[in-house]
Amino acid sequence: MPSIEDFQRVAIEEAKLALAKGNMPIGCVIVCDGEIVGRAHNTVDSDRSDLGHAEMNALRKVEHLLFGELKGRCEIYCTLEPCLMCYGALANYRIKRLVYSVSDLHAGYSRAAQLPAYYAARKFEVVTGVLKEEVLGLLKSYVAKTGHRAHLLASLI
Ligand SMILES: [Zn+2]
Repeated sequence: MPSIEDFQRVAIEEAKLALAKGNMPIGCVIVCDGEIVGRAHNTVDSDRSDLGHAEMNALRKVEHLLFGELKGRCEIYCTLEPCLMCYGALANYRIKRLVYSVSDLHAGYSRAAQLPAYYAARKFEVVTGVLKEEVLGLLKSYVAKTGHRAHLLASLI
């Protein structure tokens, strides 16, 4: 059975694919019963879409599964803490565990002072800090290479 780190390495591979297309390097994988059922990366800049977050792209790929037999049975492994939009989508699909590497003080969902009752009732297990230094290095290399979003670096812990 693959470990948390094994799945997180696949999410990092996805983040590198995002970077290769000129996007901020963020990736994720969706896992059910120990198997990867979906993987995706951030495409905000390459698709010119603010909906192109890695989590949204991954959910769209497997929503036919998540809406049906796999609802409530999947985990997601993300390189960066999800934003509020993605957190809402994960809650709607009743993800049972969220794993991420780096916390985002700028846009991360956990900075919300209070979640509406609907979302608070759908809280899931959260594991943070997995392979954090590797992901931070990737994000720093994106800023160094593109000069974009440098202000975010101070928000990533
Ligand atoms: Zn998001």
